[in-house]
Amino acid sequence: MGEFELIHNYFAAAPCAQGGEGIALGIGDDCALLALPAGEQLAISTDTLVAGVHFADPCDPFLLGQRSLAVAVSDLAAMGAHPLAFTLALTTPTVDADWLQRYAQGLNAMAQNCGVGLVGGDTTRGPLSLTLTVFGRVPTGQALKRSGAQPGDLLCVGGELGNAAGALPLVLGQRNADAAIAGPLLAHYWSPQPQLALGLALRGKATSAMDISDGLLADCGHIAKASAVSLLIERQALPLSQALLAFVGDDAARVAALSGGDDYVLAFTLPPLELAPLLAGGWPIHVIGRVEAGQGVTLLDASGQDITPTVRGYQHFRETP
Ligand code: ADP
Ligand code: MG
Repeated sequence: MGEFELIHNYFAAAPCAQGGEGIALGIGDDCALLALPAGEQLAISTDTLVAGVHFADPCDPFLLGQRSLAVAVSDLAAMGAHPLAFTLALTTPTVDADWLQRYAQGLNAMAQNCGVGLVGGDTTRGPLSLTLTVFGRVPTGQALKRSGAQPGDLLCVGGELGNAAGALPLVLGQRNADAAIAGPLLAHYWSPQPQLALGLALRGKATSAMDISDGLLADCGHIAKASAVSLLIERQALPLSQALLAFVGDDAARVAALSGGDDYVLAFTLPPLELAPLLAGGWPIHVIGRVEAGQGVTLLDASGQDITPTVRGYQHFRETP
């Protein structure tokens, strides 16, 4: 099978590549064309997943397809953007028809779940790696940025934390667990659900937002820096799942929630007045701390003592932990 046959069979023919809202021209020409309504800006984000670095190789290609798109779309959710389209740059050492078919099926399932269309990409030979670029639209000036947090705001997250980090020993085959525990943890790892609807609901309300990919402490550091404020996180307020607590215990669950990666849950700051209407609307919002004047991220124990750890999250290229 040649490059063009591969593109056609597995990607151009996929249901998610047949066009959709905002897609004026999809796969097949030198560029795709997106059509934005007047008064909207294009939101763009790229993520690369490298075999052996971002996922175990070999792994289930269907799950990889889902996950590779979900982590990219999560950035659109974090900006309050409405998803439109994505491209896929696939580098693969071999043409394995079964692998490609199942990868494309997983990708397609997540694409349809998120409402994004595949509009192009690139296909090359080399060590397995996946680069996905996502495109969304957001009314001019309404994107949720990292830079608007204000002293007095609440620090919130959009769901339970630490589940994906807790799943890692299961993913790597280092531990086993009953289905009641392994099921929900592995689902968070392989099939994170980008919080697109929450991102839209936070437009005009949250003063800053981002998605948690490198661990809560590390990512809150980005909001603190961009907004030039201090973020205080209450360790006891972290939302944890029953599955994670049962699998690793309370202490390790809190460490996973603070420093583990791959949650893809939104973290955001909210003026206190905005909280009650959002909770009444049924949004899964957990208040985990507050914003004060100052700088950096501080972790507080139940009595308000500073217990901030020094190691905060994963960084490529960092020589020492
Ligand atoms: P070019 O040489 O002009 O860059 P290619 O030959 O690489 O174009 O690709 C042909 C068409 O197929 C283009 O529309 C491109 O966007 C699309 N394409 C290539 N690889 C993929 C892929 N893995 N998934 C989706 N579309 C792809
Ligand atoms: Mg090309």
